[in-house]
Amino acid sequence: MRWSQTLIPTMKETPEGAEIPSHVLMLRAGLIQQVMAGAYTYLPLGWRALRKAEAIVRDEMDRAGGVELHMPALTPITLWERTGRKEAFGSVLINFKVRRANREIHLALGPTHEEVITDLVSRFVSSYRQLPITLYQIQTKFRNEERPRFGVLRTSEFLMKDAYSFDTSVESLAASYDRMYAAYCRIFERCGLEYLAVEAESGPIGGDASHEFMVLADNGEDVVVHCPACGYAANLERAEIGAAKSGAAKAIGSATLQKVDTPKVGSIEQVSKLLGCQPAQMIKTLIYVADDKPLAVLLRGDHDANEGKLRRAVGATKLELASPAVIEQVTKAPVGFAGPVGLSIPLWADRDVAAVADAVVGANEADKHYTGANLGRDFTVAADHFADLRNAGAGDACPRCGQSLALRHAIEVGHVFKLGTKYSDALGAKFLDDTEQQRTIIMGCYGIGINRILASLIETRHDEQGIVWPMALAPYEVLLAPLNVAQEDVMQAAEQLHDELTAAGIDVLLDDRDQRAGVKFKDADLIGFPLRVVIGGRSLKEGKLEIKWRWESEPTLIPLEGAAAALAELVRKARETPNTAK
Ligand code: ATP
Ligand code: MG
Repeated sequence: MRWSQTLIPTMKETPEGAEIPSHVLMLRAGLIQQVMAGAYTYLPLGWRALRKAEAIVRDEMDRAGGVELHMPALTPITLWERTGRKEAFGSVLINFKVRRANREIHLALGPTHEEVITDLVSRFVSSYRQLPITLYQIQTKFRNEERPRFGVLRTSEFLMKDAYSFDTSVESLAASYDRMYAAYCRIFERCGLEYLAVEAESGPIGGDASHEFMVLADNGEDVVVHCPACGYAANLERAEIGAAKSGAAKAIGSATLQKVDTPKVGSIEQVSKLLGCQPAQMIKTLIYVADDKPLAVLLRGDHDANEGKLRRAVGATKLELASPAVIEQVTKAPVGFAGPVGLSIPLWADRDVAAVADAVVGANEADKHYTGANLGRDFTVAADHFADLRNAGAGDACPRCGQSLALRHAIEVGHVFKLGTKYSDALGAKFLDDTEQQRTIIMGCYGIGINRILASLIETRHDEQGIVWPMALAPYEVLLAPLNVAQEDVMQAAEQLHDELTAAGIDVLLDDRDQRAGVKFKDADLIGFPLRVVIGGRSLKEGKLEIKWRWESEPTLIPLEGAAAALAELVRKARETPNTAK
């Protein structure tokens, strides 16, 4: 390909509205163009990189025994109603009515495809002899995200690889899951991504039933809890806290319980400022409704409740923060003044609450708090109502080895999940087992955001000058940069190299623009082609070419004679080591 014949609109300036490096660089390098918030055109270079990521994903899915098919993005709303997900997705589900002749049809654009695929399987799979099977597609998904942002990291239309496994037993599901998990590891390795597979909130199967594949990046929207000592990794929703440090001994203070005025001041921050205490000296009281019954949860003022942990501890299927009306009803006070003293609904407490002596708590009265509140004296919590109910924080004890946990920001690039029978139950996907018994198919689902592969890669592999592509995903592997395109011998050498490399199966771009070397080099570094070959100047007169890897600072010389073969060999070697580009 010749530069002059494709479309590469590079930009010198940082585009407005782009906040993070991957977004800035994808725009500046001419990989994408924003059509509207959350929707991007992939320009020729971006599209090439995306297709390469897609090809790696497809290759590994096939290798893991996945079978590719393709489902429509347009789906009937009735399918989503049957599983209750029309409601669960809420405004994220893009759905609308169209007229066809004199009928009105209600459609939804698939945000994912469990419904469509399970319906398909329910129609065509009926015997254990057809199972297990893993079906997958690489297709556009639609989600009306509340806040599309960070370029292609979070868009309302994106390319996903979604796979679904169908098994006859939990053991067989585990085998399908492990195959997908291993395929994911190979995919992200081949893409040159440094990732962590973290335990994530699991569904009905429980245990080790869900993992997210995370790329550590300061601008990631997710938080990963990681133990550098033993390798334990979980997302924030899921991460447990070891008992070592957090189950601190019970503390009994000596202050007397005193009601104080805190006019119009309800938040932890405001109250601690007003009363001159640390948030850690406060106990906050949150009112939840668990399966329609209110309960109160006590947490140290500087800690955040973890609703997943709370739901499991309480044994509820549905749990949500109480509405202001319910809070006022159970505390007899406006929102912001709930406290444990004198509260008559069940009390639960995070383990760390036991260590807060002489605490500041709400007084269940408008504009009032208590100081000097002590557990055991002023309020009590049943021993079996103490649990790990909060989000892990940096420095908390690792649940496996007791060492300090670290918190890191990360980007979720993929997710594997043991679904169980949620969709097969709802949509009647059953099979006859070898004793002619009818049973429900057990499912798993496995997603990868193809766009996020690119964005997270760029987010973690760039320098001041631009992107640093690994071979595997680079839009072109080699850039040929003739110094003076008006010079016949220069262009002739460049053209010949271009043709020979192309014939050798190398992705090569020839920068045939009539531009100064400086401009060409800047663009080459901005886009980040792995190998840059300069043709011209004194080196060419000496029968040499100057080559430079994007991740190295100094060029080296190679003889012009036999250059195509030598370059092809270099590229092939670099293809085998996706992590060369650091
Ligand atoms: P998130 O929590 O980031 O919204 P999710 O957990 O809802 O993502 P899944 O339903 O697990 O996403 O989808 C599978 C994969 O699709 C994700 O791991 C992610 O890589 C990708 N993905 C999800 N939402 C988006 C989006 N809005 N834009 C781009 N990629 C996305
Ligand atoms: Mg997910």
